[in-house]
Order: sequence, then C-alpha cells, then structure tokens
Amino acid sequence: MMMNTKSTPNVDAAEISRFESLSQDWWNLRGDFKALHDINPARVRYIDDRSAIRGKTVLDIGCGGGILSEAMAVLGAAVTGVDQGEAALNAARRHLNTTGLHITYLHSTAEALAATRSSCFDVVTCLEMLEHVPDPLSVITAAHTLVKPGGDIFFATLNRNFKSFILAIVGAEYILRLMPIGTHTHRRFIRPAEMAQWIHTAGLDLQDMTGLHYNPFLRTCRLGGDLDVNYLVHARRLCTIASDPENDVLHGYQG
Ligand code: SAH
Repeated sequence: MMMNTKSTPNVDAAEISRFESLSQDWWNLRGDFKALHDINPARVRYIDDRSAIRGKTVLDIGCGGGILSEAMAVLGAAVTGVDQGEAALNAARRHLNTTGLHITYLHSTAEALAATRSSCFDVVTCLEMLEHVPDPLSVITAAHTLVKPGGDIFFATLNRNFKSFILAIVGAEYILRLMPIGTHTHRRFIRPAEMAQWIHTAGLDLQDMTGLHYNPFLRTCRLGGDLDVNYLVHARRLCTIASDPENDVLHGYQG
C-alpha cells in the first residue's frame, strides 16, 4: 500500500459527502447515527479504563458530529476534534454550545495536523474512520506522529469476512436500516491481522484488541469475545531511548 503524500490527500470525497448529507442527524438518538450513540458509552469506558483521560489532551481523528469527543470532554479530557466534513463540524459546534463544555473542532486531516502538531497529544482516538479512507496506514502513521512518546492510541473498525458482510452490511444497512445503504464498503473493512501489521509498520506497540458486540434490538453493547465484526484496538507509541554517546553498551549493539 502506498503511503500518502501531501499532493494526494488521503481523503475519499465520496465518503465525506455521504457523511455530510447526514449532518442534521448527528445528535438524533433515533437517526442514522443511533448505533454510534448506543455503542458510545462502552467504547469511552474502554478508552478511559486504559488511559484515564481526565486532565489529558486528546485528539479525536474523524470526530464527525462529536459523539465521542463530547463524551471524553465530559470525563475531563481537553479534546481537539478533527474531521474533513464542514457540516459535521458545524453540527458538533452547535451541539457543543448546548453543553457548556470546551472542545476545539478543526477542519483538517490527521496527516495535515501531523505536520504541525507532532508529539502534542497524550491520547489519540480514531474510531469508525479508518474504513472510510483510501490509505489507513497513512492515518495510523500520522497518529503515531501526533501522540507523545508513551502515549495511547485507540482505533475502532470492522473486520472483513463473510459474517461482517452479513451483519454490518446486509443486516445493518439493508434489513434493519440502522444506517443508510452505502454507509460501508466491505472491501475497506480491516482484518485484525492487517491492523496489527500496520500498527507494527507505523512503529507502534499493539496493546490489545477487543471485540465490540452491538445488539440492535436491545440497543446494548458488550465488549470482549471475538473480533469477527466490530473491534477496538489499543496501541502505544514507544518511549524513545535518548541516545547517549557515552553509553558504549548501547552503541555496541548498533553494528
Ligand atoms: N469517530 C466518530 C465518527 C465516525 S463517522 C465516531 O465514531 O463517533 C466517520 C467520520 O470520519 C466522518 O465524520 C467523516 O467525515 C470522517 N472522515 C472520513 N475520512 C476522513 C479523513 N480523511 N480525514 C478526516 N475525517 C475523515
């Protein structure tokens, strides 16, 4: 897979306009994003259990209307949300005004932000977004640049297999109409092994992968079990060992 360069932004315009057309619905708990609202408490708990985000700077990549960003701000994180959708960001800002919370929402990409904000954030989140970009590795690499050494990164996406095709596309889009038809493209789903490989390629340390199981009838969500459909990922940027020219032992291993 080609790494993204500045001349070819890692953005699929058709994906962005599909989300933009739904922008009125971001905070409609019974609308096109209801599944995101339903799974939000469980995924926020996963992030907070692993990173204790209170008082930390968090970058939320592909924040959309701010469902995750707001929940993390409620827990006391200093959140910056970034998205390519103007209408989504406006929906996020409008909703934010009703809460008294403070979040910075930016119209940008992970890659563009990485050029100016390297090692700026304690935690980076990027949920339900990688399966909508042409080059997921480019986003994972940007996340590595953006987080501080030792900082945590969280991803969530969909696995690519027959079960996820039946549940996440046929079931969720065509039968239950949980979200509009065309929201997801099966070939863009990411197998856990591919995710692990990209995390490794980006220089990150994989900490955990956990299944996320959504019951659309009860509108409940459970973490754990298999990674067959939705799953969460926790990775960490390694702390760099400061090079010490006096340290012969370290240098001895470099040949
Ligand atoms: N992360 C949010 C929203 C997920 S929907 C949540 O889980 O609640 C996916 C979002 O990713 C949309 O808002 C879409 O506009 C955004 N997106 C897609 N490609 C993007 C890109 N290359 N850069 C920034 N945002 C992008």
